[in-house]
Amino acid sequence: MKFRGGYDIFLSGRPDGITEIPPEPPMLYIPLRSGRFEFSELCVNEGEPVRGGDVLAKDPENFSVPLLAPRAGVVRLKKAHRHIVLEDISKTDFAYSEQGGRTHIADRIGEAGIKRYKLLELGAWQFFSDACTGSLPDPMGTPQAVIVSTVSLEPFVSRGDVQFRERLLDFSRGLEHLQSLLEYQPMYLVMPDINSEFAEEVRRHIRGWAWAKLIEIPMKYPFDNPAILAGNLGLRAGGDSIWFVRTDGVLAVDCALTLSKPCLDRIISIGGPAVESPVHIKVMTGYPVEAIRSRCTSDVSYRIINGGVFTGETVDSETLGLDSECTGITVLAEHTEREFLGFMHPGPDRSSYAGCFLSSLRAKFSEAFSTAMRGEPRPCVSCNFCEEVCPAGIMPYLLHKYLYGGLIEQVEQAGVDLCVECGLCSFVCPSKLDLRREFIEAKALIAKEKEEIRREQLEKERHRLAEEARRKAAKEAEY
Ligand code: SF4
Ligand code: SF4
Repeated sequence: MKFRGGYDIFLSGRPDGITEIPPEPPMLYIPLRSGRFEFSELCVNEGEPVRGGDVLAKDPENFSVPLLAPRAGVVRLKKAHRHIVLEDISKTDFAYSEQGGRTHIADRIGEAGIKRYKLLELGAWQFFSDACTGSLPDPMGTPQAVIVSTVSLEPFVSRGDVQFRERLLDFSRGLEHLQSLLEYQPMYLVMPDINSEFAEEVRRHIRGWAWAKLIEIPMKYPFDNPAILAGNLGLRAGGDSIWFVRTDGVLAVDCALTLSKPCLDRIISIGGPAVESPVHIKVMTGYPVEAIRSRCTSDVSYRIINGGVFTGETVDSETLGLDSECTGITVLAEHTEREFLGFMHPGPDRSSYAGCFLSSLRAKFSEAFSTAMRGEPRPCVSCNFCEEVCPAGIMPYLLHKYLYGGLIEQVEQAGVDLCVECGLCSFVCPSKLDLRREFIEAKALIAKEKEEIRREQLEKERHRLAEEARRKAAKEAEY
């Protein structure tokens, strides 16, 4: 596999491999939206008691993917805006009952279809995404391939190996279940080192599985990006989808298809320089954000980010609990004051991709990281760093210049759609330009314009057909 760009970032504040199990919180605050899902169809009422695994709400726009109760408890709908609050929570055994009336699914894609629906109902399907678009794949669709990744390279986010420590058997059984959802499509298992002891052990488990292939990738951010992996594996966007699933997804598949249970707990990371002791913790959806705040350094103001530092979203003050897709929390010291000569970036403890600040005099070290990584924003200085690191092979500075001039057509021609939104260009940019945000907005604008053109064309076609039918009817009436 040939990778281009990327950057190996040394950072302090990464969680180690130990997983902590915190005490059960008295209440859960379950957000009704996450990165991909909007659970707008409520399935419970105020004051209703639920069991762990019961459906609280569904996302009608995404194959009715369910939001499951992570624990038994009593539902409160009015306690927090855009959340379901669970009170009096307790752990109870979950009992899955197979739904009837699925013969049409079995007729269409056989036993695999029934299994896929079981994954959907037990919350495991939401661990799947399309490698190229990031959206939830159609459970009834046929993928061209499946990519399983045990690697997570975004700084501070949960490492794949922590997820399946002592659960290798469950993991390999999950892979077998995954294979049973397919016909002949290949499965790629992405690992950091295919000659390591761990890889040997995985190989022992999957020996004889001709359909599973181990793939090694360099440990540079963002080579774990699903779209980059798909491209490097020679899989093409635009046709059948490419399923992408990480370690926690494979374990959720195993839980659903071996035990008929939803995977209600997950291992997430809490990392970043503003966390006192970076750690992995086993928690459930709705775990209070307040409990995470208590782990942050108290003598600085900080920003909590849901996800990694490059691609995550800031947790606003309205969000009270972890959403159902959270894989990690990053906490950065918040710098709101203007720094004296901040643009010169003079600190010896600062990151220096540019190699022109004091830090470049030192050997490679863990970089300090805050929300003010590079002082104040300035115009592009044409240093070309963004192009050097871009894994998509595009020229971010050129896109930025086109966008600055409002030349949206040129932005499209320069390949903005190839951007995988990894954020590395924003990170290395000495002018602190938020390039990633610019490109996300540009892609949304282009998609919107295309949709409008498509609708206009459809409308015109409808008018043309209606006019044709009217003329034909008039002609027939003449005769
Ligand atoms: S242009 Fe897109 S793909 Fe390239 S580095 Fe920036 S965010 Fe990543
Ligand atoms: S890294 Fe920033 S300053 Fe350098 S060329 Fe790219 S956009 Fe311009």
